[in-house]
Amino acid sequence: MKSNEYASMLVEDGVHHISDYRGDSFYLIFGDNKAILFDTGMGNGDLKGYIKNLTDKEVEVIISHAHWDHIMQANQFEKVYMNHKDIEIIKLFNMNIDYTNFLDIRDGEIIDLGKRKLEIIEVPGHTPGSTVLLDKDNKLLFSGDAIGAGHTWMQLPGCLPLTQYLESLYRLSKRSNEFEKIYHGHLAGTDFKPFPREYLFDLIKAVEKVISGELVGEPYPYGNFGGLYVTYGMATLVYNPQNVK
Ligand SMILES: [Zn+2]
Repeated sequence: MKSNEYASMLVEDGVHHISDYRGDSFYLIFGDNKAILFDTGMGNGDLKGYIKNLTDKEVEVIISHAHWDHIMQANQFEKVYMNHKDIEIIKLFNMNIDYTNFLDIRDGEIIDLGKRKLEIIEVPGHTPGSTVLLDKDNKLLFSGDAIGAGHTWMQLPGCLPLTQYLESLYRLSKRSNEFEKIYHGHLAGTDFKPFPREYLFDLIKAVEKVISGELVGEPYPYGNFGGLYVTYGMATLVYNPQNVK
């Protein structure tokens, strides 16, 4: 379904991919009883109205992390969950977001949508409160920018050191037999295809090799935040050489 501001397509049974005018990705994930909107994009339109055309179920929002291109329309919705560790990111970038009613979510919580359960897993790195959703019955991981959004950006102000990010990735990799596809936060950057699980292993190698000094990046030509980039297999990692350890 297409409006002036948003477009959606069914990518999995009960999962709509929605993009806004910038191509930011967010997901409407259905259970029998309610739906989760994972991120709200930058956008500048009536997202709530658009979602109402897709479902008459109750919709709750979970924010993957507090970057502008994932959170800017969150205030259109009543019930918004966001890991409170990311409030510092809203402050850091001085974003015009009212987070006072945002409900905290933490690692291990299960959101039961009715015939579909989503587990909250914290993957600190890209931001301190970066959160992914595991739908293990359907072998899906929704990763925001925590794991590969086209390129994995770790060069931004507010990103944790790569050594801490690596710990998060090791922890997630222990669950890697529970998902096969990674639906990340910028699906347009990968031709609207999710990454396979193996992306995570390539990303881990890239981070390990930057930390060990085995790989040294080239200047990253995109975005306004500088940084160096390396590639390993499917993964492109962008990092700040001052924020490795
Ligand atoms: Zn981000």
